[in-house]
Amino acid sequence: MTGGFERVVVVGASAAGLSAADGLREAGFTGSITVLGAELHQPYDRPTMSKALLVAEEDPQLLELRSPERIEANRVDLRLGHAAAGLDVDRRYVVTTYGEALPWDAVVIACGSRPREMRTLAGEVLPALRTPEDLRVLREAAARYGEMTLIGSGFIGLEVAAALVARGVTVTVLDALPLPLEPVLGPELATHLRDLHTARGVRFRSAVAVASVTGQPGAYEVRLTDGSVHRAPFVLTGIGAEPAVDWLAGSGVEVTGGIVTDAAGRTNVPGVWAAGDVAAFHHPLLGQRVRVEHWTHAVEQGRHIGLNIARGETTPYQGVPYFWTDQYGVRFQCYGRRRAGDRSLFVEGSLDTGEFLVLFGHAGEFHAAFARGRVRSLRDYRKLLARGGTWNEALALARTNNPDLDTTLSCTNRKERTTHEAA
Ligand SMILES: Cc1cc2nc3c(=O)[nH]c(=O)nc-3n(C[C@H](O)[C@H](O)[C@H](O)COP(=O)(O)OP(=O)(O)OC[C@H]3O[C@@H](n4cnc5c(N)ncnc54)[C@H](O)[C@@H]3O)c2cc1C
Repeated sequence: MTGGFERVVVVGASAAGLSAADGLREAGFTGSITVLGAELHQPYDRPTMSKALLVAEEDPQLLELRSPERIEANRVDLRLGHAAAGLDVDRRYVVTTYGEALPWDAVVIACGSRPREMRTLAGEVLPALRTPEDLRVLREAAARYGEMTLIGSGFIGLEVAAALVARGVTVTVLDALPLPLEPVLGPELATHLRDLHTARGVRFRSAVAVASVTGQPGAYEVRLTDGSVHRAPFVLTGIGAEPAVDWLAGSGVEVTGGIVTDAAGRTNVPGVWAAGDVAAFHHPLLGQRVRVEHWTHAVEQGRHIGLNIARGETTPYQGVPYFWTDQYGVRFQCYGRRRAGDRSLFVEGSLDTGEFLVLFGHAGEFHAAFARGRVRSLRDYRKLLARGGTWNEALALARTNNPDLDTTLSCTNRKERTTHEAA
């Protein structure tokens, strides 16, 4: 038996949890793996819900994450509809909503996050999109009302806007931010994204917050902080997500803005690990504690932790954060993380040409690369980010990939011409 473990319980049957099981088997773990999933659905792909599945004319089919055959071949005891209700760290049990007490030598907490709630004044939670049930409600409302208001212009809000527009729905987006996703993208790219939407008829009411919401499906009134009232038959919120940690109350596992782990994925409780959306981990490359709410991260970090447990290792996870988003058939991708105050530099293409690659950095540090198209170049920057490359190295790479850039970079006023400082 590797690492002296015989029983691993994984809480969460999605990207991070199933990948942790894969990592365990990949590293030769032969003991038992029990995966608890609160939902009844076979594990499914979440990102397609705000994209193809929302657009689909016919009843959408969830995209399977693992076939039952693969789960069986991996000798995973997948218990759907069984949520973890408590963690006993002294006697080493996970207690489920069925009243089972599952013994463990190691636990991987991979229970993800859930939408941050906004309620009407009457206390009704406004709809959001996280599960297939949410998707059904949203699709029905789109067909029924033909008009929708989205509160929040994050990735999910914008993807939903794009998908609804494709279905002929009239969409209004409300957000306290002046531009959608501005903290993530900086003002110029955020403007580009907003323009993509407005060109297709999406209306934005930006830089004004929601004060309160009253009403019910069919007739909502959204009161804004500027005193105006916005009426909408249906309102969907996309105002961020929170780690699903209630069931850990009193367990002794440290939770501060997510389950706190070290770079290897270990919590403060021996034998208890955390991965994916729920984990707030120390990222060696970023030099800070982060919670990454992206699909690829959940898959990679989950697998990494499975490998660590099976091998009895504490190798740090230092995958470069990555996300993609699809809107109006356009895919945007980003490696790394833009930070407040970063300069942005277009090193390939331009906003007008439909393909571009932008670098973000500050004070000699290289933080992120964001692109529409330019996939091959983007991978080169990922490698550079992975080895902690500097801004000058990023510029040198930019010149290699795009010799035409030289003249631009040699201009004394290149900063004014090619960069845009973010707030
Ligand atoms: C609509 C939508 C679109 C997205 N699109 C993208 C995208 O384009 N690109 C991208 O990078 N990311 C995207 N994401 C984010 C991505 O889906 C998440 O980062 C990823 O799913 C996280 O995986 P996870 O396994 O950590 O958590 P989750 O996928 O949230 O899975 C956690 C699972 O644990 C279960 N669970 C919760 N509590 C318990 C419990 N107590 N016991 C047992 N099980 C429990 C939940 O039911 C859930 O199935 C999107 C998310 C949504 C909602």
